[in-house]
Amino acid sequence: MTAGAGDTTTPATVCYRCGTEYTNRILDRCRCGEPLWFDVGASMFDWDDCREEQGIWRYAELLPIGRLGGLAPGSGDTPLLRSPALDSIAGGRVYVKDESENPTGSYKDRGSAVAVPHAIETGVPAVGTVSHGNMAMSTAAHAASVGHDCVVLVPSGTQPVRLELIAQYGATILQVEGEYGKLYYDALGMNSELPVAFLLSDAPTRISGYKTALFEIYEQLEPETPDVIALPASSGGFASGVWRGILDLADAGLIEEFPRLVLIQAAESDPITRAFEADRTEVSTLGPEDVGETIAHSIGNPDPPSGTRALAAVRDTGGEVVSVSDDAIRAAQRQFATLAGFCVEPAAATPLAGVERLSERGVIADDETVVLIPTGTGFKEMGTEGTSVQPETVDREQVPRRLRALLG
Ligand SMILES: *Cc1c(COP(=O)(O)O)cnc(C)c1O
Ligand SMILES: [Zn+2]
Repeated sequence: MTAGAGDTTTPATVCYRCGTEYTNRILDRCRCGEPLWFDVGASMFDWDDCREEQGIWRYAELLPIGRLGGLAPGSGDTPLLRSPALDSIAGGRVYVKDESENPTGSYKDRGSAVAVPHAIETGVPAVGTVSHGNMAMSTAAHAASVGHDCVVLVPSGTQPVRLELIAQYGATILQVEGEYGKLYYDALGMNSELPVAFLLSDAPTRISGYKTALFEIYEQLEPETPDVIALPASSGGFASGVWRGILDLADAGLIEEFPRLVLIQAAESDPITRAFEADRTEVSTLGPEDVGETIAHSIGNPDPPSGTRALAAVRDTGGEVVSVSDDAIRAAQRQFATLAGFCVEPAAATPLAGVERLSERGVIADDETVVLIPTGTGFKEMGTEGTSVQPETVDREQVPRRLRALLG
């Protein structure tokens, strides 16, 4: 392999849409406006090239970085579990790729595992991100694990529990007043002006890390192959990474048919669904009048930086984009827990709600293999919304009798 591990030069980034290549490491977007990614040239790759190494480092041959450090090797290698109790909801044979099993509880660790060590390799003293959720925690944890500073820009008014989750890793947090959505573009500019690398939702290095989820799914499912892969989409970063993984395997001649990528959005903020349903090829920003509050706060981006690329991924794989209501998200969250034993956050429950809608429309056949990706754990949110749990109280000596009655 040429461009992967051990190589001291970073491969070029390339635009998926116009094909322009860039060798400037800092530049995150193409002149045409679209985000960039690494194409490491996977044509010579074979499964035998996978390493007997921890986590995402198994796929070092296809990553644009020389080595991993700190928490990074602990990222990825999450379980893929068959969950037959979800079949009747999803309308196919369900497997769950449980991304809550990452060091900070979400798939974001796959991206941070590549992006943070890569940024540090370039000599930048600190990393940063624009997030008040999983990406903030993940970036802060990975930076701490290799002894580097991390700056996190959060919107003012961020809940104390979220600040605490991020601050535990020693990150410097700035609460920013003003239009938070625009900070993505401000941060891209700051990358070239300040001694900090802002690793945003679609940094090319992050996207490289995300594709490892797709490689794992193929290895874990073998000899089966996925017909449908369902994941939530907000900025479109994760969807882009999964698509890049599919393209790598296709370049290597390891897959003939593409799995259909199904992206799920929250109905209260669903610019990608709207573009999909209107048969457009570009995702446009939603105005405030088109955006509402959703419990799925990890996927509320009305101006997704990789939205158009995520839409291209869906079109290229013959997939779908579907929106789900908060009520459907709550129901899916309960089903994940009560039928399959998974504790997932609302955003991470959306794949189940989404495929349920698609199977009602006849889009999924019951003999198809459907991989749901719950992207993040629900443990971080437990107790933050008040509780309706009211267990019965019994005297100690009454316990056996009560149990006899309850257990029949
Ligand atoms: C970030 C995040 C998403 C959305 O991913 P994008 O890359 O922004 O599309 C979905 N689920 C969880 C749990 C997340 O943290
Ligand atoms: Zn371009």
